Amino acid sequence: MCKSSYRLYVSQTKPAMVKPIWHNQSFFLLSTCALIFISLLPLTTQQTPETAETSITRFQQYLRIKTAHPNPDYSTAVSFLNVLAKSIPNLITKTLYLTTPQKPLLLVTFLGSNPNLPSILFNSHLDSVPAEPSKWVHPPFSAIKTDDGKIFARGAQDDKCIAIQYLEALRNIIKRDPEFKPIRTLHICYVPDEEIGGFDGMQKFVESKEFKEMNVGFFLDEGQASINNKYRVFYADRSPWNLVIKAVGKPGHGSKMFDDTAMENLMKSIEVVSRFRENQFDLVKTGVLANSEVVSANPVYLKAGTPSKNGNFVMNMQPSEAEVGYDVRLPPTVDPDLLKKRIAEEWAPKTRNMSYHIVEKGPLRDYMGRPLMTATNDSNPWWNVFKDAVEACGGELEKPEILSSTTDARYMRQLGIPTFGFSPMKNTQILLHDHNEYLEDNVFLEGIKVYESIIKSLSSFEG
Ligand SMILES: [Zn+2]
Repeated sequence: MCKSSYRLYVSQTKPAMVKPIWHNQSFFLLSTCALIFISLLPLTTQQTPETAETSITRFQQYLRIKTAHPNPDYSTAVSFLNVLAKSIPNLITKTLYLTTPQKPLLLVTFLGSNPNLPSILFNSHLDSVPAEPSKWVHPPFSAIKTDDGKIFARGAQDDKCIAIQYLEALRNIIKRDPEFKPIRTLHICYVPDEEIGGFDGMQKFVESKEFKEMNVGFFLDEGQASINNKYRVFYADRSPWNLVIKAVGKPGHGSKMFDDTAMENLMKSIEVVSRFRENQFDLVKTGVLANSEVVSANPVYLKAGTPSKNGNFVMNMQPSEAEVGYDVRLPPTVDPDLLKKRIAEEWAPKTRNMSYHIVEKGPLRDYMGRPLMTATNDSNPWWNVFKDAVEACGGELEKPEILSSTTDARYMRQLGIPTFGFSPMKNTQILLHDHNEYLEDNVFLEGIKVYESIIKSLSSFEG
């Protein structure tokens, strides 16, 4: 069972809580206490397997390696993980340099007995977003564990936890059964640059000879924490677009009223987009669709005006150009061509001297032209194996979701590889990219048990 009493274990492994009694107690009392303490030792040792303590320590060590942007120390992180992986029998490691020596990619492999079957690949990105130390209660790279078991660090949830959990799960499986050999080969990849688009990371990796030789049949990537007792699983990502809408118009004196100014055209456009945004948001507010199932179009900048001195603007002049930028996110259930048509006809119509530019930040369709989604029904045999594995160790899954943001999973789905996003963190506040990111030790340890079950089930799936 996953729900073993780790909390109990953690609280029991604090011998420091036994207060010193040197000053006011007699020697007799001291000796008695010492005897009681010693007599309890074998019991304590029995209840507290050493692996549990070191899993946490190794997690903390990894969290202390500064892999936050803008200067992620990938080399130290890869060296650390390489040593960890090599300390586990039967694991093979390989470091790939697909771009520069500063951006290594670590591949860990556990060879299966049937190399003809497609392999399984687990992913964890090495990098994390920056942290502002002044906004944190504990330094973001200290990995301090508080008395209530919270481990504070940038990357604790996103996604250094899974990086260590994969290895700890393998360590436990092999320790328990040194003869264990998976049927399918299992790989773990540790990739750079996910947080900045994966262009020098996962994108380069899927194009590599090494990746093609791996013949990947199933991919497991990061997910997100759940605030309740069920684990979340993601079958698709939303795809980001950077949309810039530009208006041009006649310039003129600030005092004059006339039609077709750039500002007037742009403001009309902003109103139309705002109405669309409101309609989409209403679907979320009324519970019809989840946040990740609608198109979001959030304004991120406005640029207009004729500059004057000291960063101010000329106040008696109507400018000839104005533009607005939007962060647009599309779920795979939306037809991108229909949205483009809407943008061209309603948001930025040529008839009002408007133009637009879209930068698509990721693929929208797989190599067969299908939406980037992984089926979560009987049509996908991996779904049942995965779900059963989570349930077999006492876990429960929420209804599968689309992830609001984007991960490296899109590169796999584009190749038609079944892919789920999953990070076993339940009853946990969602703190990715937030100040004071933390993960509780018992949640981390329970996640290892979940991966043990998943690894054993997926790697022995012969279908
Ligand atoms: Zn992440």
